[in-house]
Amino acid sequence: MTVRNSVTPRAATDVSNYDIETDVLVVGYGAAGASAAFEAARTGARVRVLDRAGGAGGASAMSGGEIYLGGGTPIQLACGFDDTPEDMAAFLTAALGPSADPAKIAEYSSGSVEHFQWLVDRGVPFKPSMWDAPTWVPPTDDGLMWLGENSWPFTELAKPAPRGHRPTAKDFGGNLLMECLAGAAEKVGAETLFDTYVTRLVVADDRTVVGAVARRYGREITIRALRGVVLTTGGFVDNDAMLADHAPQLLGHTKVSAGTDDGSGIRMAQALGASVRHMGAGQVGMSLIPGLAARGMVVNARGQRFMNEDTYPGRIGQAALYRQNMGGAWAGGDTAVWVIVDETGFEDVPAPQRWGVQPTHVAETPEELERLAGLPAGSLVDTIARYNEFAVHGTDLDLHKAQRWLRPLTPPLAAIDVKAGIRPPSESGDRRGTGASVFTLGGLHTDLDGHVLDHDGYPIGGLFAAGRAANGLHGFGYISGTSLGDGTFFGRRAGTAAARNL
Ligand SMILES: Cc1cc2nc3c(=O)[nH]c(=O)nc-3n(C[C@H](O)[C@H](O)[C@H](O)COP(=O)(O)OP(=O)(O)OC[C@H]3O[C@@H](n4cnc5c(N)ncnc54)[C@H](O)[C@@H]3O)c2cc1C
Repeated sequence: MTVRNSVTPRAATDVSNYDIETDVLVVGYGAAGASAAFEAARTGARVRVLDRAGGAGGASAMSGGEIYLGGGTPIQLACGFDDTPEDMAAFLTAALGPSADPAKIAEYSSGSVEHFQWLVDRGVPFKPSMWDAPTWVPPTDDGLMWLGENSWPFTELAKPAPRGHRPTAKDFGGNLLMECLAGAAEKVGAETLFDTYVTRLVVADDRTVVGAVARRYGREITIRALRGVVLTTGGFVDNDAMLADHAPQLLGHTKVSAGTDDGSGIRMAQALGASVRHMGAGQVGMSLIPGLAARGMVVNARGQRFMNEDTYPGRIGQAALYRQNMGGAWAGGDTAVWVIVDETGFEDVPAPQRWGVQPTHVAETPEELERLAGLPAGSLVDTIARYNEFAVHGTDLDLHKAQRWLRPLTPPLAAIDVKAGIRPPSESGDRRGTGASVFTLGGLHTDLDGHVLDHDGYPIGGLFAAGRAANGLHGFGYISGTSLGDGTFFGRRAGTAAARNL
């Protein structure tokens, strides 16, 4: 039996003295924690935020900063897009999966314009301009982008509107977002303590959470929380034992985190009887350049297309990992996914937006490319011929890629192995990875106010959660911006509810 770091709760009767007393204790100072701390502190409650790291940030500060917002935000209107909460909810229901929480999606969609304004009021800037092409992160400071809403099947389910809102920053905006949120929380009085790793919760006889135990520079400290504890500790992608238990497909891939996603908050709550949801789900950022994929095709190890290439690229990644058995320790192998593109498509994406990606193989014929990539005889040849026929007629009968991106592929042709990676090569020139960068979407089961629920569906007294420590909005699917989106939105709810929990 492998014994893991103990998260067994400490009985309040066993704590003779508390080092810190507060009303609301927030554990983890990323976007969810900062949002919870702000709302709790502005009610006048005493708020203490602890983080195991040396400062605020977590994965939130490393992130692209994209936040999924809609329903008619000022940025959408300025860019010429009407939107409604109903269309936003219809898209999210389809994109996040049928088992996503409908009440959370409805609440998030109807509250989205207000949440946009809340972010602006905290100092987060958004520019009213649009980036209009598939990408992970626009190379500009445009404030709005599509995240698959204009791709099939969503075009048939809801009126398309772009909802990817980005703080005004070139490239990654997460750091700016965190500066604004943490600055706002501290301005209204939230106090912080860093280098402090919370290890277990303190519980009263009736199972109500009344505090926490933490480790700080080798010493144990105890914190009393009179109104509640909010767990905003992030997900569990850095904990391989938890991945093996719950999400083995994610094992062995590049971890999208600050290195602190050890699932400790989830485990501490589970030790009290908390229930969890969708622990097998993960975001899969496949190592491809979305602009190249949209202009060409993505094929599996059998040389077949499997997803419309103009959609949100994380959907291509999820399909590749979960349904095409792409690489990673779980698959035990090196299953390839290829981006196939012609010279026109390659050159059409400006060099800086190709992030240094080069063709793995170049060929003068589909037959030669198929042979070089080691694909089964006739497979890629047939796929290209069928695709080109669709392109000539302007309709992708198989996967419904939008006509805008359909063009016959003409030699010379290139095949790009996604395992070649999209980060700059190391000094040795080696860029190979597993082809995917992942984080977890499963977590604690919470209600609309962030109460952590037990296995009977009842709130555990004094215990709240938000961000990736919770399951939040997600079913099995993911759309960029929904992590920072639900973390900040439901983080606010959790902070407010904890402060009112007298
Ligand atoms: C490169 C990159 C790009 C991304 N881009 C986007 C994007 O554009 N849009 C989007 O929505 N998402 C994006 N994500 C994902 C997103 O950033 C995270 O899912 C999100 O920030 C999680 O927020 P959080 O508040 O739950 O956790 P975090 O921001 O990770 O904060 C958790 C904090 O808890 C602390 N902690 C953990 N355990 C303990 C403990 N036991 N005791 C004390 N402290 C603890 C950690 O140190 C950390 O500071 C990206 C992620 C990365 C890495």
